[in-house]
Amino acid sequence: MHPVMKKIQMVDLITQYEKIKPAVDTAIQNVISNAQFINGPDVAAFQSELESYLGVKHVIPCANGTDALQIALMALGLKPGDEVITPSFTYIATTEVMALLGLKPVFVEVDKETFCINPETIKAAITSKTKAIVPVHLYGQAADMDQIMAIADEFGLAVVEDNAQAIGCDYHHQDGRISKTGAIGTIGCTSFFPSKNLGCYGDGGAICTNDDELASKMRMIANHGQSKRYYHDVVGCNSRLDTIQAAVLRIKLRELDDYISARRKAADYYDQYFSSFSQIQTPVRNANSKHVFHQYTLQLEGIDRNELSAYLAEKDIPSMIYYPVPAHRQKMFSAFGSENTNLPVTDWLTERVLSLPIHTELQDEQLEFICSEIKKFIIG
Ligand SMILES: *Cc1c(COP(=O)(O)O)cnc(C)c1O
Repeated sequence: MHPVMKKIQMVDLITQYEKIKPAVDTAIQNVISNAQFINGPDVAAFQSELESYLGVKHVIPCANGTDALQIALMALGLKPGDEVITPSFTYIATTEVMALLGLKPVFVEVDKETFCINPETIKAAITSKTKAIVPVHLYGQAADMDQIMAIADEFGLAVVEDNAQAIGCDYHHQDGRISKTGAIGTIGCTSFFPSKNLGCYGDGGAICTNDDELASKMRMIANHGQSKRYYHDVVGCNSRLDTIQAAVLRIKLRELDDYISARRKAADYYDQYFSSFSQIQTPVRNANSKHVFHQYTLQLEGIDRNELSAYLAEKDIPSMIYYPVPAHRQKMFSAFGSENTNLPVTDWLTERVLSLPIHTELQDEQLEFICSEIKKFIIG
């Protein structure tokens, strides 16, 4: 063990903060000194900076990524019982909001290589009640958006991208265009939870769209359904991005591309080290997507995942299972009978995935230590 090596964490937000501390401290102090806690000038500035970064017409900042998804689905004017097609292999927030709004989540399969929704299974799940598709750019890699948009066009469906894990990811269209994920579908949703690729220092989220009408509807919904002060046209909610969080995000947005490079560099290191291990399938990089590695997730074959994880924990190396129970097997959805859905790839992945530490501050000696311990575990 290296005597001076920093403790390895899944995410190291302290070292990251130390590098931007003067700018962050000044920005936060500025908000406090001017008591601009709600809808201060940093919120509007961040909104327009994010619009330029994503190449999208409208960004609507909100309180968190779950609210972003909820507001997006509320704005589509769906009726109770309408069906929304979505992967089961995702974080619960993606699908929870559907049930909350009385919609029916229809769980479909993911691609074993990319962990993202499998377009062929979308087509098979479409019924007369289907109104929307919610693909998730899981772990930081884009779902197959060209195919998803083509299916949506053919059947008149809305597409709400769950971009919580992939902000900054470039999607390469078949026709040569490049778009940022989140800016391709009808609406895109993201989260600024601290550990996300663009994270603030608390909760935060945003919705984006190129549709003027949807944008003003979502702005209204996020603000108590208010059209003008004290006139409330639709049932909405209260979902705002705090000014302090916007001030932090403005600084971190300028770093985002460097943060992504740092994550990709760590992923390259792992890829190279594990390339000769038949028991370890490293993340497959899809040609149409520039992976931003929110997570670095292995598929293990012929290795006991719990034993490996316990072995690493003993060496002070954290690892995580994202996600141990897929949505269709959650009790929350038992009313939909979704546990009877047959999703063998999802079940297979649920039992075999293991995510290793990946973040913007990983040092080579830490990577070397993690890899060599995994090697020791495998070779004995
Ligand atoms: C983090 C996350 C969310 C929810 O974001 P919050 O800001 O925590 O509400 C939604 N979907 C996915 C895929 C996520 O990873």
